[in-house]
Amino acid sequence: MIQYIETKSILSKLREKDTWFGIAYNMNLYRGCQHGCIYCDTRSECYGINDISTISVKKNALDLLAKELPAKRKNRATIGTGSMNDPYMPVEKELQLTRKALQIIASEKFSTHIITKSNLVKRDADILQDISKTYAAVSFTITAADDSLSQQIEPHAPPSSERFKAMKLLAERGIYTGVTLMPILPFISDTKENIAAIVGQAKESGASYILPMFGVTLRKGSREYFYQILDKRFTGIKEKYQSRFGEQYECFSPNYRILTDTFEELCVKFGIAGRMRFYHPKAYQQQSILFTNEKIKKQ
Ligand code: SF4
Repeated sequence: MIQYIETKSILSKLREKDTWFGIAYNMNLYRGCQHGCIYCDTRSECYGINDISTISVKKNALDLLAKELPAKRKNRATIGTGSMNDPYMPVEKELQLTRKALQIIASEKFSTHIITKSNLVKRDADILQDISKTYAAVSFTITAADDSLSQQIEPHAPPSSERFKAMKLLAERGIYTGVTLMPILPFISDTKENIAAIVGQAKESGASYILPMFGVTLRKGSREYFYQILDKRFTGIKEKYQSRFGEQYECFSPNYRILTDTFEELCVKFGIAGRMRFYHPKAYQQQSILFTNEKIKKQ
C-alpha cells in the first residue's frame, strides 16, 4: 500500500559523529520499504513503524529540502540516505523523489552518501557524477554472493548480481562506490566461501571499499519477524539463534574470527579499503588554497 504524508522537516542532524559513513544529516524521503529483507531493523518497535511494507511518500520532501539546504551552507556536511528505507525501492522508479532530491543536492553543492540494494541507482549516474565534484559515495549492501540466497533473505530487492553490475557501471563513471557487507547472518550466510565470493566480485566490479559486520542486530519487533521467516524458510535455525544469542542486540557469527581473517587477507590482496574516505569540507578548502598558492608561485 502507498500513502502520501506531509512532514515537518526532511534533514535530521545526527546526534553523534558517524564513524561508518561520515554523514552528518539523514534524509528519508519515504517511510517503510518495499524490499522486505527478513532481518530489517526498521521493523524494530522503537521506530513505531508497524508494517514496513506500507509506504508513506513524503509529498512535501522536495520543497523542504530546497528550503533547508541553503540554511546549512555554512555547515556543509554529507547527507546520508538509505538507512531506514531504500531510496531506490520500486516505487522510486515512477515517483523519482530520490532523483529530484539529488538534483537539489547537486545544485547546492552538498555531498551525499547513498546506501541501496537496487540497480535503479544507475539511472541517476549523471547527477551522481555531478555531485562527485563535491563528494558522492554509493554503498551497495550485499550480504550473499549467491543470487538464490539473496532472494531468500532480501526477497523484493534486485539480486546481488544486479547490484554488482550497477556498482561496475558507477565505478566506470568515476563515482566512488563500494559494499556494505552487512548483515552477515549467523548460521545462514556466515561462510568463508560467501565472504570470499563477495570480496572477489566487489573487486571485479570496481569497489573502492567494503564495510563489514559479521553478524546481525535484532531487537523487539525485528526479532519476532525474523524468527517467523526462519521457521518458514530455514528449518532449525531459529533454535540456534535462541540458544546462542537469547535477547542480545548484537548477534555475531560464531565464525567471526575466520571470516575476519578471510576478509582482511583478500582486501589486502585486492587493494580494497576496509573504511570509507569521508568528505571534509575544511580540508578540501585548505587543499584548494594550498593548490592556488602553488599555482601563484609558479606563475
Ligand atoms: S532494503 Fe534496507 S530498509 Fe529496505 S527492507 Fe531491506 S534492510 Fe530494510
